Amino acid sequence: MSSPTPRKLGAQEAIRKFCVACMGGSYLLVAQCTESACPLHEFRQSPAPDAPKTTRPPVRAIRRQCLACCCGDRARVRACAASPACKEPFEPCVLWRFRLGSRPEIFERRKKKARSTLLTLPGLTLEKTETA
Ligand code: SF4
Ligand code: SF4
Repeated sequence: MSSPTPRKLGAQEAIRKFCVACMGGSYLLVAQCTESACPLHEFRQSPAPDAPKTTRPPVRAIRRQCLACCCGDRARVRACAASPACKEPFEPCVLWRFRLGSRPEIFERRKKKARSTLLTLPGLTLEKTETA
């Protein structure tokens, strides 16, 4: 019998895990982190149930973190090799699924929609012309 597929982390959980790794496994140090300039700072802990909701979703914070990690180079973020299936010398990064700034399912849906929408420019015909 094959083992069940591990549950995929949500964006907030992934940030939490990233922060714990950043602080060497210490939950206390994550709570005490003073690095307010870090894009993940406001999401490093699970919000208290009565805390006011932030207007920014955690996936956007991950996107900013990934851009900072790749010196602002979007192409490098896209090509990041730290996927869950990566092999040595790379190590998987918990933020990888969200590096493009949206949930992977939503990103795929948008990509599919964009592919199905043909862009026609004035004077440009998309009909095939036969050559003699
Ligand atoms: S908020 Fe940034 S600096 Fe602080 S623990 Fe998380 S990743 Fe590390
Ligand atoms: S997913 Fe890639 S680009 Fe983003 S923080 Fe991790 S290693 Fe850096």
